[in-house]
Amino acid sequence: MNNTDDKDKKDDGFCMMCRRRSSEVGPLVTVPPGITVCHNCMQDMMNQAMRLFREQHLTPETSEPKASEKAENTGKTVKSGDEPAAEVVFEEKKDDPKDDEKKDDREKSDGSFGIPFGGIRFILPEMMQNNNARVKPKKKPKEEELPDVMDIANLPVPHEIKARLDEYVIGQEHAKKVMSVAVYNHYKRVRRQEEEAFRDDVVIEKSNMLMIGPTGCGKTYLVQTLARLLNVPLAITDATSLTEAGYIGDDVESVLSKLLAAADNDVERAEHGIVFIDEIDKIAKKKNTTSRDVSGESVQQGLLKLLEGADVEVPVGASSKNAMVPQTTLNTKNILFICGGAFPGLDEIVKTRLTKSFTMGFNAHLKDAFDDDPDLLSKTTMEDLREYGMIPEFIGRLPMVFALRGLDKEAMKRILTEPKNAILKQYQKLLAMDEVKLEFDESALDVIAEQAVARDTGARALRSIIEEFMLDIMYEIPKDDTIGTVTITGDYILGKGAPVIGIRA
Ligand code: ADP
Repeated sequence: MNNTDDKDKKDDGFCMMCRRRSSEVGPLVTVPPGITVCHNCMQDMMNQAMRLFREQHLTPETSEPKASEKAENTGKTVKSGDEPAAEVVFEEKKDDPKDDEKKDDREKSDGSFGIPFGGIRFILPEMMQNNNARVKPKKKPKEEELPDVMDIANLPVPHEIKARLDEYVIGQEHAKKVMSVAVYNHYKRVRRQEEEAFRDDVVIEKSNMLMIGPTGCGKTYLVQTLARLLNVPLAITDATSLTEAGYIGDDVESVLSKLLAAADNDVERAEHGIVFIDEIDKIAKKKNTTSRDVSGESVQQGLLKLLEGADVEVPVGASSKNAMVPQTTLNTKNILFICGGAFPGLDEIVKTRLTKSFTMGFNAHLKDAFDDDPDLLSKTTMEDLREYGMIPEFIGRLPMVFALRGLDKEAMKRILTEPKNAILKQYQKLLAMDEVKLEFDESALDVIAEQAVARDTGARALRSIIEEFMLDIMYEIPKDDTIGTVTITGDYILGKGAPVIGIRA
C-alpha cells in the first residue's frame, strides 16, 4: 500500500495533474504505476469516476446518502461538493490489471470489495451502509435477456410490431400487417385521449377488429402473442357461452370480468386491455326463426355498447352479477375488442356475390373463376357479413375486417421449426436436458406437415401428431445413457422404420 506523507513534511515532488509542488498543495498520493497526484486532483478524478460508474453500473434502487452524512463518519473518506464521498483503498499492482474488471460482481475473490479503478478500489458510501452491504452492479442485459415486451405508452412503429409478431407467427402476412397498424393506432389514440390538451380534438375511432379464418390458422395465437408483447391484459371468451342477460349462460359483461381478473383487478390496466371473442360467427342471427334469439342477435345487441365504449358495472371475481358479488365500473372506450370466427359458408356468400357481378354482361365466361380461389374470404364485404347474419350495428363497430388463410404444407413445416417457441425446439430442449441431441430430417417434417394438413384442424393438429410418436422416444431414450443423438425420419412416423440412434462419443 502506498500512502502519503504528513502534510507538514518537506517538499517531495509535484502533482502530475495540476503541476503544483507538494509544498503548495500538501502531501501527494502515489498511484500505480508511480503517478503522483495531489489530494484535490485525486478528489476530482474520483468524482468523475464515481459519476461515470454510478451512471453505468449502479442499480437505480441504490439510495445514495448525502455526502456530508457519510463523509464525516469515515476517517479515510475524501469529501467533495455535492458528490457522495468515496473511500480510497490502495492495492498492489497486479500482473493483469484487467482481472478485476472481468469480475462482474465487482467483488474480489478474497472477499474485499469496492470498485477497481487502476490500482485503486473505490468504496462508495452506499457500500459501507449497513455493514456488509454490497452494491449490486446493474447487469448488462444479455441478448436473450432483452425485454420481450413493448411499452404501450411508447409503442414502436407498425413495421417493428410486425417484426416481433413474425418471430412467433408464421405466414398470415396480411393479418399481421393489419393488426400491427390497428394496435399502433389504437394505443396512439388512447394516449392522445388521455392527454388533456387533445380532449376536444378530432375524435379518432376505435380500431376494433374482426378476423375471419379457418380453425387452427392462428387467430387466437396472434391475439395472445400481441397481448403478451404489448404486456396488456387479455381476456379470451367464446361467443357461444354468451346469452342475453337473464337467460342461462354468461352475460356479455362477463367478458369484462375476465379482463379485470387478467389485470389482477387493476381497473386502469384492464381499461387498456384486449378482449378476444372467439366463435363470433356462432352468434349470427338465426334465419327463419320465430322464437327469441337469446344467444344470437340479442348477444350482438348486448355487445354493441361494450364495443363502442361505455361505463359498465362489472362483477369482481365472478362471471355473473348478483347481490353477493362486489362490483366495479369499467369504461370500455379504450379496450380493444377483437372478434374471430371461421364463418363456415361465408365463402359461398362471397362467391355468389362476386359471380353475380361477373356474370352480368360480357363477363359471363368468368362464372367459375372463384371456385378455387384460396383468398376468397379476403374479399368479404360488410354486405356479405350482413347476409351471413351479423347485424349492421355490430359489424359497423368492427372497422378492421380481415381474413387469415388456411395453413398449407409449407406453412406447417415452418411452424414446426421456425417460431421462437416452435414445438420441435421444445422437444429438443427437453432431450438436451438429458444430453441427447434430437433431430428431425426433412422427410419427417414432410410427413408431419402432410398429416396435419389432412386432419383439417390447422396447426393444432401438429402437436397431437408429434405427441403420438414422441411418446416412445421420450420414454425409451432416457433409459439408455449411451445414446447421444436421435434422428426422427419420415419412415419412423409412418411406422415403417426406427429412429436413427447415435451413440455418445
Ligand atoms: P384458431 O385460429 O382456431 O384460433 P389458434 O390460434 O388457437 O387457432 O392455433 C392453434 C395453435 O396452432 C396455436 O396455439 C399455435 O401454437 C399454432 N399456430 C396456429 N397458427 C400458427 C401460425 N401461423 N404460426 C405459428 N403457430 C401457429
